Amino acid sequence: MQILIVEDELRLAKALKQILEGQKYMVDMVANGQDGLDYALSGIYDVIVLDVMLPKMDGMTVARKLREAGNSTPVIMLTAKDSIKDKINGLDSGADDYMTKPFSPNELLARIRALTRRYSEVLPDVTDFGDFTFNSSVSEISKGDKSIKLNYKESEILKLLILRKNVPVSKEDLITKVWGFESDAGDSNVEAYISFVRKKLKFIQSSYTIASHKKKGYMLENSDDK
Ligand code: CA
Repeated sequence: MQILIVEDELRLAKALKQILEGQKYMVDMVANGQDGLDYALSGIYDVIVLDVMLPKMDGMTVARKLREAGNSTPVIMLTAKDSIKDKINGLDSGADDYMTKPFSPNELLARIRALTRRYSEVLPDVTDFGDFTFNSSVSEISKGDKSIKLNYKESEILKLLILRKNVPVSKEDLITKVWGFESDAGDSNVEAYISFVRKKLKFIQSSYTIASHKKKGYMLENSDDK
């Protein structure tokens, strides 16, 4: 799970980064609105924590431009202001949630969890991807007359890869989303399950497989394209 912090108060930004990393989130930190927008547009983040008062471009503008560009990454806005009007402006500009400084780290963590739950697990019961169909309600993939069941972890991995489409999913992300924050699963667990899913895709004779991109992660790709 990757989080972008856009905050020019360095002390606060660093404290947030530390708290989030303590929860196994991967965190990038930038200190002005323009950088915030550029990073956010990469589409790799699960949540953006965005300050309102920022150099170069204010947070409301960043959020608005992100939405205009078709980016729907959940945004939590941080601000020192506490008037109803500012809250409304923030939400109007495309933010999903709003926190007034000072806030408790636990509250921020709870809101991040709520937002990522809301956004990351929406996959219809039956999804067509490339040349195969994934039925998540019965954990089964099929192509033509061939089908095979996936176990829980295989199914969660495939769900994540389908949701992210063209963005590689890192091992860290797979561990936190499939095994959970508290788990002591490591790279070898991920590699093993990835190979199980690959075998099952092969079994149904899909031309899609899970490609591995060095240092970036895994992605579903059509092996005929190579
Ligand atoms: Ca600020």
